[in-house]
Amino acid sequence: MTLHLSKLGQKLTRRSGILELMDDLGKAMSEHPEMRMMGGGNPARIPAVETVWRRRMAEVLDDGDLYERMLANYDTPQGQRLFIETLARFLNQQFGWDLMPANIAITNGSQNAFFYLFNLLAGEQVSGPAKRILLPLCPEYIGYADQGVNPELFVSCRPEIKHLDAHTFKYHVDFDRLQIDESVAAICVSRPTNPTGNVLTNDEVERLARLAEDNGIPFIVDNAYGAPFPSIIFSEIKPIWNPNIILSLSLSKLGLPGTRTGILVAREEVIEAVSAANSIVSLANGNIGQTLVEPLLKGGELMSLCHNVIRPFYEERSRQAIAVLHETMGDDVDYHVHVCEGALFLWLWFPNLAITTQELYQRLKQRDVLVVPGHYFFYGLPEDWPHRNECIRVNYSQDPQQVREGLAIIAEEVRKTAQPSS
Ligand code: PLP
Repeated sequence: MTLHLSKLGQKLTRRSGILELMDDLGKAMSEHPEMRMMGGGNPARIPAVETVWRRRMAEVLDDGDLYERMLANYDTPQGQRLFIETLARFLNQQFGWDLMPANIAITNGSQNAFFYLFNLLAGEQVSGPAKRILLPLCPEYIGYADQGVNPELFVSCRPEIKHLDAHTFKYHVDFDRLQIDESVAAICVSRPTNPTGNVLTNDEVERLARLAEDNGIPFIVDNAYGAPFPSIIFSEIKPIWNPNIILSLSLSKLGLPGTRTGILVAREEVIEAVSAANSIVSLANGNIGQTLVEPLLKGGELMSLCHNVIRPFYEERSRQAIAVLHETMGDDVDYHVHVCEGALFLWLWFPNLAITTQELYQRLKQRDVLVVPGHYFFYGLPEDWPHRNECIRVNYSQDPQQVREGLAIIAEEVRKTAQPSS
């Protein structure tokens, strides 16, 4: 038999960036234990957090027939009633919002939620030309790039680059470049941003929210790393929500990526649409993450875990990794690092590299260092931008010794290939 793939089949099976990334990650974990894992977005294993999930699982096993109900019952396509009610109350208490359970839907991971949202909103329309999702700050999360059933689902904008010191920079939304017209179905940002660790300022977020509202389109905010959980965000910025915002959360970076639990907070009609799509594509959601986490939301334990364990853990690891970076790069390498305000990554920029970062990635892999070459994160740009081939993403959160070795090898390889700075 020859497998004849449909157009969608071909799109879903081609070697996309996210496939390469997840493949590398899986192979490195199972076949190459010597590999320094600085590629994927796997959260770190934090013993104090793992103890909590182990304890919760024991409680589930001991709690009447909760374990059997968790495994044996299909959930509704919107998610577990109890979890959703508790979460609505929790978010209202934390942020003074006015959410009802009808404002929350669960999906099988937030990756899954984005597939629904992008394709529910953008692409071919019932009437009129096709629409796109606007990413106001490129580079943006690799995992969105290939999610469109329609080709070219995204249009994105180059940022302004602000140099904070000789080796540190920050991207800002370049509002002069943003063009919002009838062809834009929604605006979307990740905050904290994967891959850069950027946290868009309150001012940027408020301006984007206003622009979306003025144009009658939703503003999607991907809060996979932000507050209130997992709180891998190193400033006191609070998430914003209003009925024009679709806020996405995830249990993954709490150390539960295996449970595949994503959460959307949005106006009722969005939740109904996502639940309907969920019943067609997935029937129902996994129950395990919701069952493990619900009592911790109710009792406040999740918040203390985030504030006292998870956030300090990542903040310390990122601080250490940046210190090692400066030490290993020294003064003879032309390098810049994006200010790390959250998420799991250092975003490194080598303006005078004589090779592309795809080539650098290959050379690093030969030396057992796995990173992600930056070009995958630059999609939807209307023009070419050499910057796309000058950056890499490095996961700073794994074992500190491995991160130190990995950064030293990156520095060596960059030093070998860098042109003299101009
Ligand atoms: N959004 C961002 C910004 C991410 O970094 C990730 C995963 O790394 C996701 C969404 C998807 O996460 P999950 O499907 O595990 O909830």
